[in-house]
Amino acid sequence: MADSHQTLRCPACGEEMKKIFIPSQGINIDICTEGCGGIFFDNREFAMFDEKHENIDEIIKAVENKEFQKVDESLPRYCPACGAKMVKNYASIKKEVQVDDCYSCGGKFLDHGELAHIRSQYENELERSNDVLKFVYNEVGKEIASVEAVAEKGLKRRSLLKKLFDTLILD
Ligand SMILES: [Zn+2]
Ligand SMILES: [Zn+2]
Repeated sequence: MADSHQTLRCPACGEEMKKIFIPSQGINIDICTEGCGGIFFDNREFAMFDEKHENIDEIIKAVENKEFQKVDESLPRYCPACGAKMVKNYASIKKEVQVDDCYSCGGKFLDHGELAHIRSQYENELERSNDVLKFVYNEVGKEIASVEAVAEKGLKRRSLLKKLFDTLILD
C-alpha cells in the first residue's frame, strides 16, 4: 500500500495521528502523539523498524517525555487506513507482545512501548527466525512423539488381540 497522506484516526483512542517523516526510509509513520502514543505502520513499513540496529530516532523523538492516555487493549480496533477489523497477533514466537494486524491492507498498530519491547527481543532477523525454527522443531518433535505413542499403543492392542485370538484358537 502506498504511503498515504490522509490523516489517520488512532484505532485505540480516536485521536488524530501525526505523520512523522523518517528520512532514512523516506516514509511517513503515523503516531498518536496527542492521545495514547500508539504507532501505525503501513504494509511493510514495520519490517524497517523491528530490529535493534534499525534507526527509530524520529519515532522516539515523537513520543519521548510524554504522558499518554491509557487505552483498553481488549476493545475491538479498526484499521485507520482501510477500516477493516484488526486482529491481535503475537509479535513473535516469544508471545510477549500482542500487536493489531489488518489482514485487509497489511497495516499494523502497536500500543505505546510495544515497539521498544519487540526490538529488545532479538538482536536481528536471524535470531528471530532461529527462534521460530526452534519452536517448529519442538512442536514437530512433540507431534512425532505422540504419533509414536499412538503407534505403540496400537501395537500393544494388536498383540493383546493376538494373544486373545491365540488363546481362543488353542481352546
Ligand atoms: Zn491513540
Ligand atoms: Zn487496513
